[in-house]
Amino acid sequence: MSLKRYIILLLGTGLVLLVAIQWWLTYQAAESMSLRLQTRLAEEVSSQVNDKVRQFFEVPRQVVSLNVAQVRQGVIDPREPETMTRNFLLQLEQQPLLTFLSTGTPEGEYFAASRPPLGEDRGLRILQASVDNHRVMSLYRADERNRPGELIDAGNDHYDARLRPWFVAALAMGRMSWYPVYRYAINDPAGDYGTMGLGISAPLYGADDQFVGVISADLSIVQLSRWLSEVMERSGGVAFITESDGKLLANSTPDPVYFLSRDETRRISIRESDSPLLRELGELLERQTESEQGRILHQIGDERYLVDWVSYSLQDGPTLQIVQAIPQTQFMAPMLDLIRKLLLVAAGILLLGMLLITLVSIWVTRPLVALSRWATRLGRGDWTYRPDIRTPVMEVSQLSQALGQMAYRMARQTQDLEQQVAARTRELEQANRELSRLSRTDALTGLANRRCFDEVLAREWARTRRFAQPLSLLMLDIDWFKAYNDHYGHVAGDRCMQLLADVLRQHTQRASDLAARYGGEEFAIICGGLDHAEALGLAEDIRDMLEHKALPHENSPLQVITVSIGVATLGRQEACSPEALIRAADLALYRAKASGRNRVVSSGP
Ligand code: GH3
Ligand code: MG
Ligand code: MG
Repeated sequence: MSLKRYIILLLGTGLVLLVAIQWWLTYQAAESMSLRLQTRLAEEVSSQVNDKVRQFFEVPRQVVSLNVAQVRQGVIDPREPETMTRNFLLQLEQQPLLTFLSTGTPEGEYFAASRPPLGEDRGLRILQASVDNHRVMSLYRADERNRPGELIDAGNDHYDARLRPWFVAALAMGRMSWYPVYRYAINDPAGDYGTMGLGISAPLYGADDQFVGVISADLSIVQLSRWLSEVMERSGGVAFITESDGKLLANSTPDPVYFLSRDETRRISIRESDSPLLRELGELLERQTESEQGRILHQIGDERYLVDWVSYSLQDGPTLQIVQAIPQTQFMAPMLDLIRKLLLVAAGILLLGMLLITLVSIWVTRPLVALSRWATRLGRGDWTYRPDIRTPVMEVSQLSQALGQMAYRMARQTQDLEQQVAARTRELEQANRELSRLSRTDALTGLANRRCFDEVLAREWARTRRFAQPLSLLMLDIDWFKAYNDHYGHVAGDRCMQLLADVLRQHTQRASDLAARYGGEEFAIICGGLDHAEALGLAEDIRDMLEHKALPHENSPLQVITVSIGVATLGRQEACSPEALIRAADLALYRAKASGRNRVVSSGP
């Protein structure tokens, strides 16, 4: 595996692990945060809803208390219905949740201010049923000055306030109290009052403690449901309010909480609701009857709900159960969003990280790869290769420098070694040449020795045969030399031979001439390309020169050192052997000796 791939694999795995761990930790944190958020949100929603419900039910109590006090102090008087109605209208304007603010007199007369609970037209209304008007319930639209304006309807003869549940309840209790849910008895052609209500009623006593009527502040349960659905809209959940017998008072869903027909008025309990969700919640709460309030997570269908319930007893009235169920997705949404963002960030980090790792690995490995290539070339003996390795990594830079120094030293050493070898080779060649020269030279005279003579003769013989040239051979012998040695001694004899050698050298300057010591005091001269006459001339020159040197030789009849020379020549076309040539020259020398010495004799006839 290459270093680059190794680094990428190692760092990549590390990065993936790190990102995964980081993601997991953040996910855990997000989940616990989401749970906390969920609980807090649920608490917030439930306390908000509970507070609102309390506020909602607090409104009629405050309004009734105020009016009871005002009547007692004589500020208003049920015996002055017009003033009182205007007062009611003003109060209704302040309290948008109220449906009715009504008074019933001891005579069963009725007057009220109202906001229709149903329909589009929610302008304030005035209701009256007086004895003078034969107890006919008349419904007016309130004009700008809060007086009866347009008469919307007159009907429902014989209306007797004393028979209404709110009147009955106030008298029965003798003080302010909640009365049960009842159906409105308003004859309204538009059907804006075709619903049910509940509220607080109280007997009214004037300043003189005289009973002057009953006042009631009424909330329509349609209004309650509408208000509940507005409250729950923001939380995305459902809420409902039941009485202790399970009868629905209100719910935030559009499902009805009562059933009304001409003859029948029936309230619907939670177990009978049209909404499966409400039914399920009702069953769930039935199982939780022992606790007055609580909160549990409950799976309904595909959704998990955080269900929160609390019991709330209205002062002097029924006990209500306020229930809310908020789907968990509502709480999970921010977490899911967070997780999605987290995933994106993790993917981004991964991508960037991998890019960075790849870049780093390339950056780190490039000089190493170059170093490895360099080392391979060094291993092959390529000392001259010197790559340019630039790296901020100290170790790699040091390695590069060390390799450079090593290459430099190796190159130097190799060069030295090559120079040494060349010098040694030259010396050896010199020695060889010297050795070969020595092996071919006569030590005493410095002329070619016998071996050299044989080689050169064979070579010259071949060469002259090839180029059809003549080849002459001179054989020389010092005359009376034994006698010389005897008389002058061997050392002088040697010197004499050296002198003769000098003479021979002087006469053999051509490249194809060779003077050699043939043996003892006999010498031979090979003259390649020299014909017989020229060779005879050369021999005569040598003999003559030596004679004229006049080296004393007392024991010679001539008194000086002389030589006898036999000359033989191989003609251009002749093919007889070198040995035959030697024999011929030797024979000529013998004849020179025999015929008196100090002379040149030709091998010819
Ligand atoms: P001739 O005229 O017939 O040639 O008579 P000669 O005395 O020269 O002939 P011989 O062959 O009897 O003697 C040759 C002598 O040469 C014998 C020997 O003492 C002498 N001689 C041979 N080699 C050397 C040498 O290397 N140094 C010396 N000083 N003398 C040598
Ligand atoms: Mg001799
Ligand atoms: Mg001799």
